[in-house]
Amino acid sequence: MKYPAVRNYIAGQFVEDAHPRTLDIFSPLSGAVISTVPLSGSEALNQAVEAAKAAFPAWSAMPIKERVQVFYRYKTLLDKHLQELTMLVHEENGKTLDEARAEVEKAIELTEFACSLPQLVAGELLEVSQGVECRAERKPLGVVASIAPFNFPNMVPHWTIPNAIALGNCMILKPSEQVPISAGRIAELLKEAGLPDGVFNVVNGDKEIVEAICDHPDIKAVSFVGSTKIAKVVYQRATSNLKRCVALGGAKNHLLVLPDAHVDMTASNVAASMSGCAGQRCMAGSAMVAVGSVDHIITRLVEEARKIVPGKNLGSVISQQAKERIERYITEAEQAGAKVLLDGRNAVVAGQEDGYYVGPTVIDHVTPDMAIAKEEVFGPVLAIIRAENLDEALDIENSSNYGNAASVFTQSGGLARYVMENASAGMIGVNIGVPVPREPFSFGGWNESKFGACDITGKSSIEFWTQLKKVTTKWNPESRVNWMS
Ligand code: NAD
Repeated sequence: MKYPAVRNYIAGQFVEDAHPRTLDIFSPLSGAVISTVPLSGSEALNQAVEAAKAAFPAWSAMPIKERVQVFYRYKTLLDKHLQELTMLVHEENGKTLDEARAEVEKAIELTEFACSLPQLVAGELLEVSQGVECRAERKPLGVVASIAPFNFPNMVPHWTIPNAIALGNCMILKPSEQVPISAGRIAELLKEAGLPDGVFNVVNGDKEIVEAICDHPDIKAVSFVGSTKIAKVVYQRATSNLKRCVALGGAKNHLLVLPDAHVDMTASNVAASMSGCAGQRCMAGSAMVAVGSVDHIITRLVEEARKIVPGKNLGSVISQQAKERIERYITEAEQAGAKVLLDGRNAVVAGQEDGYYVGPTVIDHVTPDMAIAKEEVFGPVLAIIRAENLDEALDIENSSNYGNAASVFTQSGGLARYVMENASAGMIGVNIGVPVPREPFSFGGWNESKFGACDITGKSSIEFWTQLKKVTTKWNPESRVNWMS
């Protein structure tokens, strides 16, 4: 399907950008051009910031119980338009319809959490000495920005939009230029839910607009989700401009499989973890550490992975370049001596011959020094690394620069607990391949998978999107007597 040209959304209106640069948007499913996106610069950003600044006094002055009413209405609109939003994600990102629906459902859950914020942000009050009272309350920051990656066009923007806005901030969203269509529909639905113009704005673009966001003196906080390479750049640039920043980066998540693991449960979980969303998840288990004798589990895992078929229950990857990069990793590992048990190179889907598909791939006897063991492949590829014991497996996991997630598969509570305690990652799974903490828990990794103090969702995000105002009061007890006499 063809979509109208993407436009920026500023002060409640879709606006043309005078900026001449544009980019074609390809559907990864078919390789066809489905729209174009403007690559805006600081001029468009300045307009969006002015709109957000103008909206901020009235929006932030509104009690939070009133602000969240917008999100109650917005949640019902997301429910109503679930099918349509699902289709948008499917077409612009290439993930399967089931995965796209799950993404929008997760966006709904994130919106529900924002509706509960009044219960979570009530302040503190204490009489600190006779007649002297201290109170602390959470205040919004002002104009904030959210920069998103390509792999979740609907969900990742919802990591930030409902919480930041319900807490009283005005936001500028910069979607991924590869998948910018969903963001326009999000803007329309927020307006329909009653969000005042200027509270939410969308500016499209690439490096230029991201740098302008990091430099803009009136943007108080920047959240970023994307690769580690760019997360570092954004974190350094935003903080050197004295902004608050949380920047989530890439991942290499290890799945530690122990010999006593439940065979069917482990095989299906590992296969789903490495292939879901075509492996394009920061929570994908892309490295399995096989501890001791687990060949029986690997055999079952390959059987499971074989059932994952491109174009049926496996979506496409995002671009032709991504497909080539992923296939290059497989070839290089094979040339370095790893054994390809299941080969997804050169996958073709009948009727979608120009789509960007890579089949499920399982590679055994990968060694820790190979690029495929260390780097983020971001495709439906599982690298199996052999370890003799659990400590060696943990050393492999902990030597990674990343630290988003790690999982252990075992039926021993003691061994599971040992991994929980000793794995250097922000999100740990026990017999769970994709251990995403659901609300009210927060989402965020460790090491080079996240820069900044707070997590991006859940309770931790409340701290990120607000600042504490502390008030100390004392009243003269005589004044009441004087007035009454
Ligand atoms: P990316 O880093 O290429 O792009 C992310 C954003 O940065 C986009 O909006 C893009 O326009 C912008 N950008 C790209 N190059 C830039 C540059 N040179 N300077 C400034 N801005 C630039 O990431 P992607 O390919 O869109 O997304 C995939 C990556 O995101 C993977 O590494 C994945 O692990 C990561 N990711 C992480 C999480 C997490 O929670 N840690 C979640 C989702 C995705």
